[in-house]
Amino acid sequence: MATNTYDIIISGSGIAGLSLLYRAMKADLWVGKRIVVVDNNLKQQNDKTISFWKKKATAFDHIIHSSWTDISFYSNPGEKIKLDAGPYTYHSIRSIDFYHECLTYLKQFPNITFLQAVIRSVSSDGAQCIMETDKVRLTSRYLFNSIYTTPELRAGDQYFLQHFKGLKIKIDKPIIPVNEAYLMDYRTSQEHGTTFFYTLPLAENELFVEYTIFSKTLLQPHQYDEKISRYLHEVLNIDAYEILEEEFGVIPMTNHQFVRKNGNVMNIGSIGGDTRASTGYTFMNVQKVIDQILRTYKTKGHPFFADEPIGIKESLYDSTLLNVLDSKSYEGHQLFTDLFQGTKAKYVFAFLDAESNILNDFRIMKSLRTFPFLKAFLKSLARR
Ligand SMILES: Cc1cc2nc3c(=O)[nH]c(=O)nc-3n(C[C@H](O)[C@H](O)[C@H](O)COP(=O)(O)OP(=O)(O)OC[C@H]3O[C@@H](n4cnc5c(N)ncnc54)[C@H](O)[C@@H]3O)c2cc1C
Repeated sequence: MATNTYDIIISGSGIAGLSLLYRAMKADLWVGKRIVVVDNNLKQQNDKTISFWKKKATAFDHIIHSSWTDISFYSNPGEKIKLDAGPYTYHSIRSIDFYHECLTYLKQFPNITFLQAVIRSVSSDGAQCIMETDKVRLTSRYLFNSIYTTPELRAGDQYFLQHFKGLKIKIDKPIIPVNEAYLMDYRTSQEHGTTFFYTLPLAENELFVEYTIFSKTLLQPHQYDEKISRYLHEVLNIDAYEILEEEFGVIPMTNHQFVRKNGNVMNIGSIGGDTRASTGYTFMNVQKVIDQILRTYKTKGHPFFADEPIGIKESLYDSTLLNVLDSKSYEGHQLFTDLFQGTKAKYVFAFLDAESNILNDFRIMKSLRTFPFLKAFLKSLARR
């Protein structure tokens, strides 16, 4: 098999791989470098709605599809909590717009090659990186890898799945004001685990509803559909609707410690540990990792940064939450209700963004039942 040599290999052109290369090229960081982007998928489908809260500008603000200034929460018995998000607003990007924006921009550069191939392995023998594909062998100085494989779990690792089915539907009349997002709507049965709807009005007559579960096993496809249909009819009182788009996803929620660096291979995205274990949110963590990579490359000439955006403290708290959910000593819907009833959302968002101080951490802990958390915290601590 032929071997082609590059300066940089981008392994996987999903959210992390494309964000990195797009932002590096926008920053004129890799001018003239020989770069290859490898993926077996041409990224021409709208396969996910990427949502996030933010209080500052991002590199992708110009492709935001929908934004919400008001964020609400519903408890399982139906109490509505209007969240005080402070400076944070909530936003969604359609993945097709993201892929299109990145690929259109990157394809202008003669020093970037796109290779459609199945990646079989990536490795590093120290200074050199090696990628084996079904078509060709590639080597490079640096390799950024975002190919997710389920990790080999250690004793004490929790591995929850956040699995969800989302529908974009057309409705006759507005149901929720277009500036209001339901971040978590627990008005659904909790029989399969921590279960909520995530409901976003996209326009006066368009709604995105996602049935989401935190549990260890998936449901049968028809079960997601049945629950969505019940929610639309019985909770939102929508009698007639037309399905415009569908999405299904599974995001790992784990306290497994992912490896960032292996020789000159740098793992980014979910395989780099950038998915927040307590929520599944990834997009903004990926952007923070890229901030670090670009800063380090600019100042030191290599991408290997020291400070992880999701630090030891955050990992410990996330691990504690997963252990609490696993122990079933505190029902997930009750835990999140207590959290959002007892703490302003702006503090929760700061905490989830790893921008929390001791006072903020204390506010959050005070809103939750102590005993299940204490036990789970000690379990998480013992595992480290
Ligand atoms: C449906 C869905 C909705 C989500 N919504 C949100 C959200 O709202 N907010 C949020 O923060 N996070 C969200 N996430 C979580 C996270 O942001 C995404 O999973 C994100 O895509 C992770 O980025 P990544 O680059 O790690 O992986 P990906 O974007 O999946 O990129 C990996 C790439 O590798 C390619 N690939 C994989 N295996 C091979 C192989 N063997 N050979 C060649 N190519 C390969 C894939 O085709 C893909 O393009 C969502 C996830 C899903 C699945």
